Amino acid sequence: MFLQRTIRKRVAIEGMGLHTGKPTQLSFVPAPDNTGIYFVRTDLPGRPAIAARAEFVQATSYATTLGGDEFSVSTVEHCLSALAALRIDNLFIELNGPEIPIGDGSAKIFLEALLAAGMTEQNAPRKYAYIDQNIYYGDDEKYAYVVPYNGLRVTCTIEFSHPQIGHQTLDIDINEHSFSREISRARTFGFLKDVEALRQRGLAKGGSLDNAIVLDSEEILNPDGLRYPNEFVRHKILDALGDLVTLGMPMMGHLILYKAGHDVLNRLVRKIIESPESYRHIELGSNLPEKDLDGSYLWAFS
Ligand SMILES: [Zn+2]
Repeated sequence: MFLQRTIRKRVAIEGMGLHTGKPTQLSFVPAPDNTGIYFVRTDLPGRPAIAARAEFVQATSYATTLGGDEFSVSTVEHCLSALAALRIDNLFIELNGPEIPIGDGSAKIFLEALLAAGMTEQNAPRKYAYIDQNIYYGDDEKYAYVVPYNGLRVTCTIEFSHPQIGHQTLDIDINEHSFSREISRARTFGFLKDVEALRQRGLAKGGSLDNAIVLDSEEILNPDGLRYPNEFVRHKILDALGDLVTLGMPMMGHLILYKAGHDVLNRLVRKIIESPESYRHIELGSNLPEKDLDGSYLWAFS
């Protein structure tokens, strides 16, 4: 049986918000069994908390923001992505401002901090959302869907009419090792022509070549170039894994994405939650049909 996980001890990260440009401190704090993932605003009276769940996703332009009437936490996806890969079920993420630090624009700082804290198994069994039927959201331009699969797999395609990006596809089974090696270091990206417009809207104030891949109409402006030839599609997978955490439990299924951003992912996750007939809750190693148990399945979830 696979048990829920949290981290062994508190660990802190210093950084700056991509959109606010403000210095921020984030701490990962162990949480009891069956808590889930919560963001806690330690800078506000009463330390309000919000669950990392799709129903609280407030905005999806350029980043995923969770919020209620009184406060919000933005750019949560890179941090959540690392939690998904490490299968962390219960965690408080304390933050002394409105935005998660951007780090280098990838999930690297979060993964490193969590690995430094170490994982610990808890007493309660982990519940998975096991996809039984295909669920689709989108249109001809962009879409996302899930199909049954004994593990967590993502196939992502992007198309940008830019000479450095173009058409990119990647198909990958997600586990701690593949995420760490293939996905975690892929950085967010943006176009120089959009930066001015974003800044006028109060966004991207902290954006620089230190925390994003920046492209002009022809070239990549970062002096060291890319970390992977197809870093762009890898980052889209990183984002999608983060958004998938808002399902509230780890998903077992194959996620297929075509030009899908945070908005499409949020709609898909909401649709899964609203379609209880299309998935079932399972505790791995207890009530899973035996015919579903193959080697890759166990490997993917260990
Ligand atoms: Zn991103």
